[in-house]
Amino acid sequence: MEELPILNRNAFERRLQEAGLPSLTRSAVKTLQVNVGKLCNQTCSHCHVEAGPNRPERMLPETAAAILHLLKFSPSVEVLDITGGAPELNENFLDFVAEARSLGKRVINRSNLTAFLLPKHDGLPGFLASNQVEIVASLPCYTRENVDRQRGAGVFEKSIQALRVLNDTGYGMPGSGLTLNLAYNPLGAFLPGPQAQLEQDYREHLRSDFRIEFNHLLTMVNMPLGRFAETLHRGGEYDEYLSQLVNSFNKDTVAGLMCRSLISVGWNGYLYDCDFNQMLEMNLVGKNERLRVNSHVNSLESLSELEGLPVLTDDHCFGCTAGCGSSCRGALA
Ligand code: SF4
Ligand code: SF4
Repeated sequence: MEELPILNRNAFERRLQEAGLPSLTRSAVKTLQVNVGKLCNQTCSHCHVEAGPNRPERMLPETAAAILHLLKFSPSVEVLDITGGAPELNENFLDFVAEARSLGKRVINRSNLTAFLLPKHDGLPGFLASNQVEIVASLPCYTRENVDRQRGAGVFEKSIQALRVLNDTGYGMPGSGLTLNLAYNPLGAFLPGPQAQLEQDYREHLRSDFRIEFNHLLTMVNMPLGRFAETLHRGGEYDEYLSQLVNSFNKDTVAGLMCRSLISVGWNGYLYDCDFNQMLEMNLVGKNERLRVNSHVNSLESLSELEGLPVLTDDHCFGCTAGCGSSCRGALA
């Protein structure tokens, strides 16, 4: 275990203190977010995971089985949230869905949309619908130019095609009970606009231009990590962007931060406070608040053992508290 000399003294912790707020701790774990690996059929410019078609990191069946075992003995967990990479490309994806549903958990599939069009995924929308899986689909704009700029040539057209398939399966359609939410992130080094207004804009454009329906738009801040951080560094914008996040600190977002009720598990079975800490390999903090713990799914009987533990923070946390805030559920305030 690694000793932390100045835990809770970083800029984010100081900002919490100035706002009269305590350091972050985790209450009961409500969401288990599983990152099944870095394999993806896209290479988006803002990706904090730095995912792509050649990334070898992928979850093995024994790790998936250990996670499902832990889930079974973690009654506080309500949601299994599956992400990646493109989670649908992992060999354990179908098992995760089926097993978690049989345990009575809600399941979220974080999809890039284009994965639905891969040849072996013909029956996937029907399978997800029959299991009442909620889909959160990335679509950073309703225009071809902007989507292709961030996500690659031709991605917009394929995304619209996939949205049509999902609508035809009932996803996003009134009365179907099948949830299709879209995820927006800015196309550059700026914060998202107000979520409700953007949702209205998306609905109007997608409905009139493509007859696409969806439930809600979730706005997310670009985290200064991974490929997006590289882009910022290359353009000499990193410090300016971080200052923007720091100066936009909004104390009203802190109560809803996802790390308060979420545990993230990586492709190799190690546990983290969130997907961002996972990418930084910031391990969980132990009970004495001075030790990082290499917690692995195999080392726990239940996620309730992690209740009450401190959350490890750093500069990137300002991305979650900037403006209206940001989480996997969208804006926070
Ligand atoms: S942002 Fe999503 S779709 Fe794009 S490369 Fe990363 S994991 Fe893949
Ligand atoms: S990045 Fe966000 S979710 Fe993760 S620990 Fe920091 S504040 Fe919490």
